[in-house]
Amino acid sequence: MEAGFNEVDGGGSPTKGISPSKTETISTNINPKGGKPSSKSIKKRNPGTKKNDEMCQFCGKIDKTYLQNDNLDMHYWKECPMLTECTHCKQVIEIAGLNEHLLRECDSAKSFKQCPRCKESVHSNDYETHVGAKECPIAKPSKAANRCPLCHKDIESGEKGWK
Ligand code: ZN
Ligand code: ZN
Ligand code: ZN
Repeated sequence: MEAGFNEVDGGGSPTKGISPSKTETISTNINPKGGKPSSKSIKKRNPGTKKNDEMCQFCGKIDKTYLQNDNLDMHYWKECPMLTECTHCKQVIEIAGLNEHLLRECDSAKSFKQCPRCKESVHSNDYETHVGAKECPIAKPSKAANRCPLCHKDIESGEKGWK
């Protein structure tokens, strides 16, 4: 009997035609312990980590009403201090990822450049002035500190700092 598929072939070889593997979707519904399949458009960090749906994965707030998906989404939109709406493309994104977002993913990403000095995203209209002024605080290595893209202050590194 011939095996049609070679399971050893883990990766590297480009599969033409049907490629059923999407790395971004991790199906939690296999888990019998009440993991709901989530259809949230917001990017998840650590998708492998088991978390309750009643807890906001970003700010850690726990509310039983979040078990209804809409409520958690509402929290993301309205309340969550860890998320913000991109003023350019209206996507809800993590504040921690706002810089990255503006530089890469955002619909307006091409209007932004990264300042080599403070590592923040600067609108190209302001870029010359910003870089020329050399007044922005020099970015510290992310191990030492993160910078809030909203208030432009250095904050403690890691999760704790953002919170
Ligand atoms: Zn939250
Ligand atoms: Zn955006
Ligand atoms: Zn700068």
